[in-house]
Amino acid sequence: MERRKFIRNTGLALSGLAMSPRLIANSTTDYKLPDNWFWSHGSSRISVENWKILFDRLSRAGFNGMLSNGNHQFYTDLAPLCKEFGIQLHAWQWTVNRGGYAKEHPEWYSVSRKGDSVIDKPPYVGYYKWLCPSNEEVRKVIADDYANLTSIPGLSGVHLDYVRYCDVYLPTGLQPKYDLVQDHEMPEYDFCYCENCRSKFEGIHGYDPLDKDDPVADEAWHNFRLDQVVELVHGIVDAVHAKNSIITGAVFPTPEMSRRMVRQDWARFNLDAYQPMLYHDAYLEDTHWIARGIGEARAELGPDIPIYAGMLFGRNFDPKLLVETYKEVRDAGGNGISIFTGRSLSDEQLKAFGKI
Ligand SMILES: [Zn+2]
Repeated sequence: MERRKFIRNTGLALSGLAMSPRLIANSTTDYKLPDNWFWSHGSSRISVENWKILFDRLSRAGFNGMLSNGNHQFYTDLAPLCKEFGIQLHAWQWTVNRGGYAKEHPEWYSVSRKGDSVIDKPPYVGYYKWLCPSNEEVRKVIADDYANLTSIPGLSGVHLDYVRYCDVYLPTGLQPKYDLVQDHEMPEYDFCYCENCRSKFEGIHGYDPLDKDDPVADEAWHNFRLDQVVELVHGIVDAVHAKNSIITGAVFPTPEMSRRMVRQDWARFNLDAYQPMLYHDAYLEDTHWIARGIGEARAELGPDIPIYAGMLFGRNFDPKLLVETYKEVRDAGGNGISIFTGRSLSDEQLKAFGKI
């Protein structure tokens, strides 16, 4: 894997480099985003020796950005080890899907078009506890949470996930698993109709969305909800940038699919980089679909914002196909790839990728 030269932040031309323009403007220190990323489940039960083996394998093949979940202590302990291998550690935390406040603040949670709170009737799966993105208290708690993470020594940035509404539509390949044919917006998966959302919308547009015969067809109501997540994210971005740290996100495959499937208008998020989850198997697509998704994202984001194709595949996935997909992603304007998870890569896949 080519090691790009370390670039100083003195207003150099950025074309083709994985560096965010905003970082150049805000940061007082040199910074360069990783070449390629991997998600990893953080656990303090994993031994130092085990982490070292993983980091050695991945860093040699050109993966030098780690997106890990975990708590503050875990990140504090792991950061020096990552540094030894030239790997940047970024704190991967779920953003809107968080059940932890349910007892104290049930009013913070989303309500479906059927009138059910996710606390009583979580959609699809038991851990789907979606906060209401328009709630100001919710916005502050989430932004503070990410801002606090940035104070961890050695942590390079934070990473958003589940930063959207509940799935209105599941990926095509997943619908049969839930025994669903989602050919329209079903009321039990359509959020958020809490008092706060409806009155906030009515304050702007002069009517309650539930007074419409078909709220789904109401464009203003659709756009209002896109805006709620965008505003929530902008609050987090501001809080993280105020701490001079960087912020990235795992988002849905393409901007168009994301708006339609989960009301996630991520091309407007103002993140420093994006890792769209272009998991082709979940959408019953071939691997060329991955680079096409990157092309669509590039067209909406413009030339400068780094995008890394999120990929998910098994150990039997042909190493040659991994190399070919990487090249297609680069040709489509992507900066690299992000693998879910780093531990799932075989020696053969890493060997082939490392040769590029
Ligand atoms: Zn709401």
